[in-house]
Amino acid sequence: MTTNTPIICPACRVIDRADGIEDGNLYKIDHFHARSESALFRGLMRAQDRLADRITAFAGSLRFVYIHTAWFAVWIAINVGAIGVAREFDKFPFGLLTMVVSLEAIFLATFVMITQNRQGRRADIRSKIDFETNLRSEIWSVHIGTALGIDVEHVEDVVRKAIAGTRSELNRQA
Ligand SMILES: [Zn+2]
Repeated sequence: MTTNTPIICPACRVIDRADGIEDGNLYKIDHFHARSESALFRGLMRAQDRLADRITAFAGSLRFVYIHTAWFAVWIAINVGAIGVAREFDKFPFGLLTMVVSLEAIFLATFVMITQNRQGRRADIRSKIDFETNLRSEIWSVHIGTALGIDVEHVEDVVRKAIAGTRSELNRQA
């Protein structure tokens, strides 16, 4: 949404000038209508996604390692004749075990990616909400500062210098 009607509120004019030009265009950022975080998260939480999360969490646990260690040990022991040659069902080099484990790996990789995608979307929503909160704080603080008679131009000047300082610091580190 853009409005180019002249801004009467002095605090809003300070916000408008912060980007270097006073063009009456305060609302070029379209994040004003924040939806609640939990509502956005609920949209991400379908039952099948929760199942994928649980499987990923289980695959990332030590219990998973123990179960597989025990499973492989028993399987290999049986098939090298530990309880009799007649009980061998998947002789060396354990082709059936190889196939089962390959299929398991394919599904696990997919579950990990599903969970990663969901975490990425969740982080996006969080940063969007952070941004909206920062925006709201900025608008409020400029209005409060104006009402208190603080020299807003001076504060903006300090802000610009401080941001330029941190940015050059970041560029040096990068
Ligand atoms: Zn205002």
